[in-house]
Amino acid sequence: MRDETEVVHLGRKPHSNYGVVNPPVLHASTVLFPTLAALEAAHDPAPPGERKVVYGRRGTPTSWAIGDAIAGLEGGFDTLLTPSGLAAAAVALIAFLKAGDHLLMVDTAYGPTRTLCEGILKRFGVETTYYDPTMGARIEGLIRPTTRVIYLESPGSLTFEVQDVPAIVEVARAHDIVTIMDNTWASPYFFRPFDHGVDVSVQAATKYIVGHSDAMMGAVTANERHWKTLMAGHGDLGQFAGADDMYLAQRGVRTLAVRLERHQSNGLALARWLEGRPEVRRVLHPGLPQDPGHQLWKRDFKGASGLFGVVLHPQERAALAAMLDGLKLFGMGYSWGGYESLVIPGQVRHARSAVPWTEDGTLLRFHAGLEHIDDLIADLDAGFARLKAARA
Ligand SMILES: *Cc1c(COP(=O)(O)O)cnc(C)c1O
Repeated sequence: MRDETEVVHLGRKPHSNYGVVNPPVLHASTVLFPTLAALEAAHDPAPPGERKVVYGRRGTPTSWAIGDAIAGLEGGFDTLLTPSGLAAAAVALIAFLKAGDHLLMVDTAYGPTRTLCEGILKRFGVETTYYDPTMGARIEGLIRPTTRVIYLESPGSLTFEVQDVPAIVEVARAHDIVTIMDNTWASPYFFRPFDHGVDVSVQAATKYIVGHSDAMMGAVTANERHWKTLMAGHGDLGQFAGADDMYLAQRGVRTLAVRLERHQSNGLALARWLEGRPEVRRVLHPGLPQDPGHQLWKRDFKGASGLFGVVLHPQERAALAAMLDGLKLFGMGYSWGGYESLVIPGQVRHARSAVPWTEDGTLLRFHAGLEHIDDLIADLDAGFARLKAARA
């Protein structure tokens, strides 16, 4: 099946649910067993091709509907859900690491993932080394006998460097190291981590999968080899997600393809327009031919989402406020992946250690929503006029 078709059909079983198109929302904690024998057999493995509902937190048809869709789209073995994307990253890391282990973490990781490394993981005896996202196979030089996990995120948070995922995976395999990748930027629709050899993928479903800024959820997916370890970590940490949120996520998946096509075209059009502006020093978007990550992106990704960065020539805060405060269509706020356009200033300097961020220009992170491109451009054009007036 083509990806667009999978997005529509994976995880749905209408004819097991009275023909109703969408899966039922099962709100479950206690699950009753009709006999003592059935209760005693609850934890026996399910017959091949079947699944059992034994307790709310252990999985329900509602969680399988969204989990099967994500696993299928990413090319993984199976998917587990968490109440947020950050929880998914935490589950993946904690499931595979123990005291005394060494972790190679990409320098451009999502900020709170770094905080996890510096906090809980450090307290539990895991040492983290941050690596240059563009080092590819040269990562081999950072491997120690205790290195257990290499964590990737491509493109990087805020600065959008593209990683050579297959090269890193090859090195990891040769040293029996587990690769975990945060695949939120591309979503499962534009990048299939398991086709590139990644062992475990992390998805902030909060972003494009939910897609409407109205629920938080994460997903962790593993290949068959690492599935049991991931499942044990997820189970021990007591992770699950609310039934209504899982339903919203599975509903979001059905329109992922059409939404992402529009996020992509609006994002590229905005990036090209911004590139031509005198206020802009550089645009950080791997879909642009002159971007340093463009060749790798073109080789491995099937598209670009709507999230990218722009470095303006250094701006006074008051001028920047004049520009941003008056925007009518671009909201200011954290998270992204909904239908609406967003912008926030990005602070990178303290979030990098392997490759210092020396850019003194003002970094803005844009999320291109689903609005008409001409309206988005007009909104930014008026914003630049306010910036100019405030500088004068
Ligand atoms: C937002 C985000 C997360 C965390 O997702 P939440 O659902 O907000 O916890 C993780 N990784 C990346 C790349 C993100 O952008």
